[in-house]
Amino acid sequence: MRAIRIAQHGGPEVMALTDIAEPTPGPHEIRVRHRTIGVNFIDTYHRSGLYKLPLPSGLGLEAAGIVDAIGEGVTRFEAGDRVAYCSGPVGAYSEAHVVAGTKAVKLPSAVDFDIAAASLLKGMTARYLLRKTFRVEPGHWVLIHAAAGGVGQVLVQWAKRLGANVIATAGSAAKAATACGLGADHALVLDGGDFSPRVREIVKEGVHAVYDGVGRDTWGGSLDSLRPLGMMVSYGNASGPPPEISPLLLSQKGSLFLTRPTLFHYTATAELLDETAADLFSALASGAVKIAPPTRYALADAAQAHRDLEARKTTGSLVLTP
Ligand code: NDP
Repeated sequence: MRAIRIAQHGGPEVMALTDIAEPTPGPHEIRVRHRTIGVNFIDTYHRSGLYKLPLPSGLGLEAAGIVDAIGEGVTRFEAGDRVAYCSGPVGAYSEAHVVAGTKAVKLPSAVDFDIAAASLLKGMTARYLLRKTFRVEPGHWVLIHAAAGGVGQVLVQWAKRLGANVIATAGSAAKAATACGLGADHALVLDGGDFSPRVREIVKEGVHAVYDGVGRDTWGGSLDSLRPLGMMVSYGNASGPPPEISPLLLSQKGSLFLTRPTLFHYTATAELLDETAADLFSALASGAVKIAPPTRYALADAAQAHRDLEARKTTGSLVLTP
């Protein structure tokens, strides 16, 4: 079968479409025949080596498809089930992949493969960030960076549904308009300068929480946008990792809380995964969260998807077709 493999870390050019043996599920594993593969920013960290992988390696964490082989002891699935997954082992950029039976979820009939691959990882991330990490309540002020991106679009819609006042940021006027169209109350176009005075023009006390997946470029402005006892939720590094900081800085800036969460801890058991996915699927079913049709690339063009994502050319989700 065909799969994207890397022999070394580096730019998109290290990604090669390769013929590899089809994997067979071991005990408690299932094989998923992919219909649509999700592209996530974390895949670029795995490729570049910001997050190191044992090499050579596949890439990709997320796909939707049909279970076509089952290992001994699997009780959650049967052959023919429509499923999606978004966890390791890496290797989802392929025609089929083997994952633990506890790491996949069944798809409701209303969720097609494209929407599943476009939303499972990003939507479950938005859900735990808003409902578990900093629990958004009506009237809270939240600042959401990269609001027109994959995770950002879900964050904006879900935060509004929870009753928050949303200040969105984006890298262009068109992306800011997208964020407003999703319900953001304010949208700032970032120009590389300090945006915290603009946030404080909108809410002078500062925001209750910042959801920051951009990292290095927004770090200082994010801390300066928080009110005392506010929470900095640093969940990604799209512009590079944030700097190291002294805990004392958090005290000086207003007894701030800082967390650096990852989805995989919030969905570590099958029960947590099912609960998180069910909440996402119900947000999709109710219309609280809408997923725009994803931008599609052929599996063979996965490197171009990475180029576009890293060049900030994309909005919403990207998917690959095997
Ligand atoms: P996005 O679609 O949001 O793409 C990243 C966006 O970041 C860009 O579109 C761009 O938006 C913004 N950005 C700002 N500066 C840069 C830069 N220098 N280079 C590239 N992008 C930049 O990606 P995802 O939705 O897949 O992921 C968003 C973030 O969430 C990532 O950091 C990812 O690692 C993180 N994440 C974390 C998870 C967790 O559990 N911790 C789980 C899932 C994702 P703009 O041009 O508008 O600024």
